[in-house]
Amino acid sequence: MAEIFDPKPAVQKGFEIDERILRLAEKAEESCAERFAEIDRTARVNGEKVLKAFIDNKVSAACMTGTAGYGYGDVGRDTLDAVYAQIFGGEDALVRHNFVSGTHALTCALFGVLRSGDKLVSLTGSPYDTLEEVIGIRGKGNGSLADFGVSYDQVELLPDGKPDLAEIFNKAKDAKVAYIQRSRGYSLRPALTVDGIAELVKAAKGANPNIYVIVDNCYGEFVESKEPLQAGADLIVGSLIKNPGAGIAETGGYIAGSKKLVEQCAYRLTCVGMGKEVGCSLNQNKSMYQGIFFAPEVVANALKTAVFTEEIMSLCHFKCYPEKGEKRGDIITAVLMKDKESLIAFCQGVQKGSPVDSYVLPEPWDMPGYDSQVIMAAGTFNTGSSIELSADAPLREPFAAYVQGGLTFAAGRMGILTALQEMFDRHCLKLF
Ligand SMILES: *Cc1c(COP(=O)(O)O)cnc(C)c1O
Repeated sequence: MAEIFDPKPAVQKGFEIDERILRLAEKAEESCAERFAEIDRTARVNGEKVLKAFIDNKVSAACMTGTAGYGYGDVGRDTLDAVYAQIFGGEDALVRHNFVSGTHALTCALFGVLRSGDKLVSLTGSPYDTLEEVIGIRGKGNGSLADFGVSYDQVELLPDGKPDLAEIFNKAKDAKVAYIQRSRGYSLRPALTVDGIAELVKAAKGANPNIYVIVDNCYGEFVESKEPLQAGADLIVGSLIKNPGAGIAETGGYIAGSKKLVEQCAYRLTCVGMGKEVGCSLNQNKSMYQGIFFAPEVVANALKTAVFTEEIMSLCHFKCYPEKGEKRGDIITAVLMKDKESLIAFCQGVQKGSPVDSYVLPEPWDMPGYDSQVIMAAGTFNTGSSIELSADAPLREPFAAYVQGGLTFAAGRMGILTALQEMFDRHCLKLF
């Protein structure tokens, strides 16, 4: 029989990465081995937890199809709420594509729980940039919590970035809600571990047994095998274009925790009295189910990319956070870039190694909600999705690039290598 295909292997066009960068990559990977094994163990525990929640809640083929109109009795939507509640250890959950972002979900949680005359206290210093306007720290007359008579106070972090337990005791006494940000966000403080969150919950509830603890869980889901509700928090909130959506959910957010508080949040998202009963799922259910199903594995890939970034950037003499030996509480690696040029070269290099929009050059811009210019490398399937490899950097001292995500380790690793190559090409990196 005649030869029907060409037996020669297809010629692959490789990445043009300097030999010295490739050697650094090899060295970095060698020192990651133990931590990679630990990440795989956590992914397995979490993967089993997710599978069990699917089985226990009888996720069915019918759950994958959506509804239109009011969405009364949407079995896919209601079952997904129950699946999330079980996975995260809550009584109930609200998982909706209608949340436009993590900030929106957090806003619903705060407005859902707080009332005029109440006090909100942040236990972890300044909250994430976009929440400043929501709370009313910046801006006036926009309908912020402050405009509605909710007062705000914050417990500053100690000089080493750790929470100030003594001060928490003082400031939590007369507050209705204690707010905790698990991830480092755009700052160099350490992310909180779940055990660290448990200490804060204990301190706040010790001072005031009636206080509600709300945790901004962004970037923290599945990093450990426990979640903050299991550390005593009352509500957790996150974004579906981060960890729990696995790059598959197209948009959305979630809130999980106590039944009563979740209902109050649902009243804020839709209408008082209607809450969780309305809201059609359109065609979003399947991607949200697949997202949470894949999330433990995808978070593991993002964590491997993060640990690799930490190692190789340290080998190139850039200061990185988390610091050596620090236990991870989120998927972020912050890299101090020394100057603006290096920061921009790094971010543009990450973009060059991305699966989508690799040919696009990201530029610094005035992003809504942020008070300095931000450059964002995000060559992602879902716009702005940061469980996909992305590097964000506010253009301000200390010129830190916040690197996170990576749907697969192969692509995440290569994104970092193209960034190093870009820095080298622009004389922002010396190689020996
Ligand atoms: C991403 C994030 C948020 C929410 O941001 P969105 O861009 O609105 O989704 C809030 N807090 C932290 C710590 C975050 O990382």
